[in-house]
Amino acid sequence: MGAGHAHLHLLARARFLRAAGLDLTLIAPERFHYSGLATGVLSGALSVEAAEIDVAALAAVSGVRHLAATVVGANLQARVLQLNTGQAQGFDLLSLNVGSQVRDPLNLASAPGVFPVKPLAGLFTLRDQLEAAMAEPGPGPQVVVAGGGQTGFEVTAALAGLYTRHGRAPQVTLVAAHSPTFAPQGALAGLTAHLQRRGVSLLTGEIVARRDGTCLLADGRELPCERLVLATGLVAPPWLGQLGLAVDGAGRVQLTPQLQVLGEARVFAAGDCAVIAETPRPAVGVFGVRAAPVLLNNLLATATGAQLRSYRPQSHWLSIMDLGDETGLALWRSLWWRGRAALRLKRWLDLSFVAKARGGTFTPSA
Ligand SMILES: Cc1cc2nc3c(=O)[nH]c(=O)nc-3n(C[C@H](O)[C@H](O)[C@H](O)COP(=O)(O)OP(=O)(O)OC[C@H]3O[C@@H](n4cnc5c(N)ncnc54)[C@H](O)[C@@H]3O)c2cc1C
Repeated sequence: MGAGHAHLHLLARARFLRAAGLDLTLIAPERFHYSGLATGVLSGALSVEAAEIDVAALAAVSGVRHLAATVVGANLQARVLQLNTGQAQGFDLLSLNVGSQVRDPLNLASAPGVFPVKPLAGLFTLRDQLEAAMAEPGPGPQVVVAGGGQTGFEVTAALAGLYTRHGRAPQVTLVAAHSPTFAPQGALAGLTAHLQRRGVSLLTGEIVARRDGTCLLADGRELPCERLVLATGLVAPPWLGQLGLAVDGAGRVQLTPQLQVLGEARVFAAGDCAVIAETPRPAVGVFGVRAAPVLLNNLLATATGAQLRSYRPQSHWLSIMDLGDETGLALWRSLWWRGRAALRLKRWLDLSFVAKARGGTFTPSA
């Protein structure tokens, strides 16, 4: 279920699963968008195609039956999934890799002109709308980004980059509920100053409502806001929490180190939608990628009766933010490094991932 990072790995190795006697069905939308390149697309540095993987084509090449649909509910005891197409799909063994969605307790996303950062396709629509608006005379629409985490800062930087690429002063305000903590203080101070120099406004506050052309903060302030971007944290799809499984505070399904859902030996999961109960980690792509070989091994082992392996997620990981102006901010433990080389490394890593997932290799252009 889902064609996230871990299942792309399985798709490419479907022959091993078939050889173990498994009959595979993938239920997922036709296209996957790779988040490591999403802000590069939003800033106008990359095309949408650069970040897109054709899941339907990969499934066809791998000989996997693909249902271009999403799962909207399940009866795990009866081993049946309900799809948004109205179909039902039975299973003996289930693997979940359905990602996450934006935390939105006030349902701000139901108002017009609001763009949650997931699904990523919404950010690409936002870029199209802003580019269309900037083709007309005038300063361009006022965009407010809600969220002071790494994604909020990165999306803000990308939007500033988009305005600059179009020869406009950025009309972008980042509203953070709390002081950011995702990087060392020195890195955050440098990042904040860098964004302010580029014309971005930074405010502390909490957005509680969207009105026509404005958004309202909890303290009563009202900001001009033609588009609102929600980068308010990632949670698991809510329907997962209705399956009677053990979930954490973000609705993520809790797993054993062997990637089995607690109490459900025939249901496995990886990526943002799940968390290993003993070793919780945030919703970051690297964990879905690193869990993938263990997931493959354990699905094969379940089919053949072999020994399951454990996945021990790393405690530290390299993270590189695309700052939308041909520079990046790399973060590793207490170290940080901002500049062009950081972005070059990020591009190489991300474009290599996409090329490999498509079944090729990435060759950098001169
Ligand atoms: C703007 C942005 C930038 C980010 N940048 C980075 C980064 O640079 N590095 C990093 O490590 N992390 C980054 N992240 C976090 C990253 O997106 C997630 O941690 C990562 O995508 C999780 O991978 P996944 O495989 O669990 O799920 P996803 O990559 O979200 O894939 C899930 C797949 O399942 C499909 N799906 C969803 N629901 C269903 C359903 N009900 N039925 C069937 N299929 C379904 C989706 O269409 C999707 O294709 C970023 C996040 C955002 C929002």
